[in-house]
Amino acid sequence: MNRPLHPRVFIAGHRGMVGSALIRRFAAEGDVECIVRDRSELDLTNQAAVQDFFQAESLDAVIFAAAKVGGIHANNTYPADFAYQNVMMASNAIHGAYLAGVPRFLFLGSTCIYPRMAPQPIPESSLLTSPLEQTNEAYALAKIMGLKLCQYYRQQHGVMYHSAMPTNLYGPGDNYHPENSHVIPGLIHRFHQAKQANAESVTVWGTGDPRREFLHVDDLAAALVHLLGLSDPPDWVNVGTGEDIRIGDLAKLVAEVVGYSGEIVQDTSKPDGTPLKRTDISRIAATGWQPTIDLKEGLVETYQDFLGALDDQVL
Ligand code: GDP
Repeated sequence: MNRPLHPRVFIAGHRGMVGSALIRRFAAEGDVECIVRDRSELDLTNQAAVQDFFQAESLDAVIFAAAKVGGIHANNTYPADFAYQNVMMASNAIHGAYLAGVPRFLFLGSTCIYPRMAPQPIPESSLLTSPLEQTNEAYALAKIMGLKLCQYYRQQHGVMYHSAMPTNLYGPGDNYHPENSHVIPGLIHRFHQAKQANAESVTVWGTGDPRREFLHVDDLAAALVHLLGLSDPPDWVNVGTGEDIRIGDLAKLVAEVVGYSGEIVQDTSKPDGTPLKRTDISRIAATGWQPTIDLKEGLVETYQDFLGALDDQVL
């Protein structure tokens, strides 16, 4: 941001995994004043409240990491909630920021905005080329609307509003529920429990054959700061590593990091999900950013975070 020495940046969603990584990053750098609001202080689905907040704060930028998120089950069962809340939050924030003259807005979505049958690795240009995955269509449509609003406001009003679409994230602050979570935090929890109990085997869902890409959330935070510094950022850009790993190999790596040496059993009655999911990161690479955190190193750190959360009894 080529603006004030100590820009005031509103981090929407500061309690989430991405928002808290941004807070850590800005705290380490020391030159940005992070403005945050708890949900009880500011309801982002309330248009009047959001407009009042932006008018009062004279912000230099917004990073929008707020979202109603959930797993496949929640997304499938409550599509109205996912669509309504995410559309309202995004449009209130984008329009409210625009009305208040906030010059910069970085909107966050996810790579689930791309079609179910998008080419692999997924390029940004595949947006809206064919149908979405049904199970998270409501969430994806809301995120597409946020991305498009930023693009349209930039085009129509000349404000620098743009978006980043991260791949599967992991790292400190994740949801470590043993079952109801994403694969990395779920496996960390279950391998840890198995180590403690000297269990003979741990069950990993599916065949182990699907491949996934994983980005450490601190790498994402670095990418977002990088994007905010660009004078002509892409309207939307994938943020990932561009590399994937077989789930079976990921399970072995997590076992090694946790120190579990028993057997790993694949439960093929559980779904594999999509066989491949990897992003094309050439667009962000061309702007001069690349990830730096190696998966194993990131897993070691995430396991420490998990142990800390256990000690704090927040799990
Ligand atoms: P996805 O990218 O939306 O499929 O996200 P997930 O993180 O939920 O799943 C990634 C892959 O890991 C899928 O093939 C799952 O079947 C597999 N997997 C293996 N064990 C687990 C587990 O314990 N939890 C989850 N969530 N997925 C697992």
